[in-house]
Amino acid sequence: MTPAGFEHAVESGRAPALAFLARHGEYRQAVSVFPSLTPVCLSSIATGAGPDVHHIPSLVWWHRRERRIVEYGSSFSALRAAGFSQGIADTVFNMNQRHLGADAVTVYEALEDAGLVAAAVNITCYRGRHRHLPTLPWLTRAAYGPKRFFYYSLFESDRTGAPLAVRNRAAGSLDAYAAAVGRWLVTRDGFDFFAYYLSDFDYASHARGPSGAADVALERTDAAIAALLDAAGGPDAFLDRYAVIVHSDHGQTEVERAARLETPFAGLEDAVVVTASNRAGQVYLLPEARVDAADLARRLDGEAAVEVSLRREDGDAVARRDGEELRFRPGHGGWETSGDAALLDHPDALRRAWNALGNPNAGDLLVSAATGWELTDLGGSHHAGGGSHGSLVAGDSLVPLLTIGVDAAPARITEVAPAVLSHFGVELPAYQREAAGAA
Ligand SMILES: [Zn+2]
Repeated sequence: MTPAGFEHAVESGRAPALAFLARHGEYRQAVSVFPSLTPVCLSSIATGAGPDVHHIPSLVWWHRRERRIVEYGSSFSALRAAGFSQGIADTVFNMNQRHLGADAVTVYEALEDAGLVAAAVNITCYRGRHRHLPTLPWLTRAAYGPKRFFYYSLFESDRTGAPLAVRNRAAGSLDAYAAAVGRWLVTRDGFDFFAYYLSDFDYASHARGPSGAADVALERTDAAIAALLDAAGGPDAFLDRYAVIVHSDHGQTEVERAARLETPFAGLEDAVVVTASNRAGQVYLLPEARVDAADLARRLDGEAAVEVSLRREDGDAVARRDGEELRFRPGHGGWETSGDAALLDHPDALRRAWNALGNPNAGDLLVSAATGWELTDLGGSHHAGGGSHGSLVAGDSLVPLLTIGVDAAPARITEVAPAVLSHFGVELPAYQREAAGAA
């Protein structure tokens, strides 16, 4: 949800639960990460770090050591193209058990190590210390999540009577599942911390565009929030009991056209792997490549679908846009730059670009799509005529953020986890302390 979408929801009278929370909290806009794609954003929220620490680079990426594509579900056709069972294993298990950085600390791990009880529903970054077996008897692979762990009906630490999550996504069955679990948890006060993830508004926004999403999904999203307030005995009783941070993980912008990011790299099929999804792409150089990342960047000059590319060169980051380049690196408490800084005029752009490039799983060239464009995924799918996200542009990157009873003012989605840990008096991981010092 975009800040404009949130503000409209609160003012329209159609979202009474959100409006109640907004009246009792402090509202601001915050910045997402790059790429502003769900697995990257949710990992950033749960670990309080950028991709340089949590190592999740995109919805789809090239695993250099295993020499294969990892696809977390850009679309059904993309999952099929990547190999359905591999895609499911990567999405459900490997993202948390293998791909999420070993040095990253999830908010659930930090809280439960301090003796608190964490709960999570449907959020894709869930790594914790508790072993959970799937609800399907023929699946035997365990996942490790927080003590109270609910994941699309596939993992359920407790019997809540929630309806099956995956009945009808377009009709809001994922949020209905989350709401039933949330109602059960709040009724029992069964947690110290609860990550309550509602994704059906994003689904509607992909189909209808960010301004049309409210028409079909706003009341449902609000009802899922109202379910928690009701379960506590009403809105005031809810706020007597809990401090709350309400935010989205990324925005969305309208998409009119789609392009294949593979096309500009025609003839280099033996040298590069291109992975793209929504409004971001990554290009990986294979060990046998006889071109470098600067050559790849030049191939994108004049591509209407591409606004800016990013790469590392001699310890610097290099952004290229319309044939012009900006070099930058951290230094002297800020950034040392050479070139036209206006090339990266997006929110918090230097920091987000630097952190994306610092991810060992990132491509050698990162691509941020131009406004109105999407890059087709492995299965050729796109959301032209609807909405999408993933790029550096403000519409994809800015999120609404509301704090109620929390003594913190997060300006980035990476600052949510440290706000939670500080609220409970739990020591922050070293990388969160360093980021707070640098901010
Ligand atoms: Zn999305």
